[in-house]
Amino acid sequence: MNSSNSPRHGGQAGQWGITERPIDRLLRTLEIVKPQTIKKTGAGFTALCPAHEDGNRSLSIREGDDGRVLIHCFAGCTVASVVFALGLEMRDLFANGRGGAR
Ligand SMILES: [Zn+2]
Repeated sequence: MNSSNSPRHGGQAGQWGITERPIDRLLRTLEIVKPQTIKKTGAGFTALCPAHEDGNRSLSIREGDDGRVLIHCFAGCTVASVVFALGLEMRDLFANGRGGAR
């Protein structure tokens, strides 16, 4: 039996206006596209790559220092093709993707 038991901060989203980190969004999307695939590792996560026929968790997912999502497929898929397979866009990998103007 698997009750969903995700570690999560209690409390409301404050006044930060940040609802979800890029890596959380990516993992959530991946869980929809490839259910039961995500596995936590020391440095991040591994999962079945959505961009090719993967039976071996070729996809490595990590969070970079600046909050961006780092994706690497050991079978050679490009980041763009993985993102596309998830129905996301490249900018979804970056934390500060809310308009370029500063
Ligand atoms: Zn791949």
